Amino acid sequence: MGSKKKAFSRREFISRTLSGMASVGLLGVSGKAISSIGREQLGQYSGKEIIYRTLGRTGIRMPVVNMGVMNADNPALVKRSYEIGVRHFDTAASYQRGRNEEMLGNAIKELNVRDKITIGTKIYIPHQQRGMPPEQAKETYLNVAEESLKRLQTDYVDILYSHNVSNIEYLNNPGIQAALQLLKKQKKARFIGFTTHSNMAECINEAARTGFYDVVLTTFNYSMSDNKEVKNSIKNAASKGIGIIAMKTQCSQYWYRENVPSASQKFYEGKIMHKAVLKWVLRHEYITTAVPGYTTFQQMDEDFPVAYDLEYTPEEKKFLKDRNVKLSMGYCQQCYRCVPTCPNEVDIPTLMRTHMYAACYSNFYQARDTLDGIPSGKSLQACASCSTCTASCVNRIDIAKRIDELKTIYT
Ligand code: SF4
Ligand code: SF4
Repeated sequence: MGSKKKAFSRREFISRTLSGMASVGLLGVSGKAISSIGREQLGQYSGKEIIYRTLGRTGIRMPVVNMGVMNADNPALVKRSYEIGVRHFDTAASYQRGRNEEMLGNAIKELNVRDKITIGTKIYIPHQQRGMPPEQAKETYLNVAEESLKRLQTDYVDILYSHNVSNIEYLNNPGIQAALQLLKKQKKARFIGFTTHSNMAECINEAARTGFYDVVLTTFNYSMSDNKEVKNSIKNAASKGIGIIAMKTQCSQYWYRENVPSASQKFYEGKIMHKAVLKWVLRHEYITTAVPGYTTFQQMDEDFPVAYDLEYTPEEKKFLKDRNVKLSMGYCQQCYRCVPTCPNEVDIPTLMRTHMYAACYSNFYQARDTLDGIPSGKSLQACASCSTCTASCVNRIDIAKRIDELKTIYT
């Protein structure tokens, strides 16, 4: 595959990891990003109109690019995003263990624009606790929602999601649905939805069938360009009036640093790659908006201009057609097809998500919480007994390498 950019050495990986941990305060070091608000001028975006779409039957109009707040810890970035036109902010009760909602709530309060924006937040129950009785699930959802409203300093959220749904049983859990319905009735949630990262087609088709949920927030990116099942389910749900929001739109990019030949990386670096994959998502008109999880002003300046123009440039077309790019793309689609190839049937997909949060996003809260959600017999502990990882991926992901990197951090 030509000259590959060398993947991180163990030492480089540890060094990046430690600096990521510092940036989220896990090492007791203040990690506030330096505000560069005002660095870019609004004139950069002049001459064109922001493209707006309607979020299904909610009727909410919003720009096609908004902000996934998940990994951000800088209120100045939220404020600047609002100034340049972002109108939807996506967070979750569990992001940064509540600090993400607090930061967003403070920024929106200072801007005094609550009535001009749409806030989405999420309630999550770890997988090993999902067997709780429906009545307990209802109580949990109601309590977490109240805490979210306090942290966000608002009386209501616009979209309240049941987070990380991967099967129909959880999607249709009567306790969870009762809680969401009650919160909607109490006007604490204007609309209700669910998020999904795995088994997406089945969950989305079921939501289209029942009509219970108003919005779906789903993983959708260029690595899924051949996945007709997911595309059709999204199209089906959108045709029934469900609003569709896309996340993980930039394919996490670890594969890019790891596998794309260095000469190509130089050519595509920065604006070409990010804009190309974001445009690919939004050129599907049944996607209302994307919520890229940018954490810097530079990333914001790369992502948001896409809201003005979805036409590909010649360079972006070249990137999307590049065989090396396609061959290198190793985004974990959470298909679970690797699990039978592991002698211990480890939960590899969730470990791959943990790796994404740690190595791509430097979000060590999310990585830790994701890892802690795996039963110990199916987690990294089970990998300790393996001298050689024999698990294999249908999507060209180097599972062994990522498991090894996770071991470096967590064992
Ligand atoms: S690692 Fe590969 S096989 Fe396993 S869930 Fe991810 S994409 Fe599927
Ligand atoms: S190292 Fe690989 S093969 Fe061994 S338990 Fe872990 S995932 Fe399975």
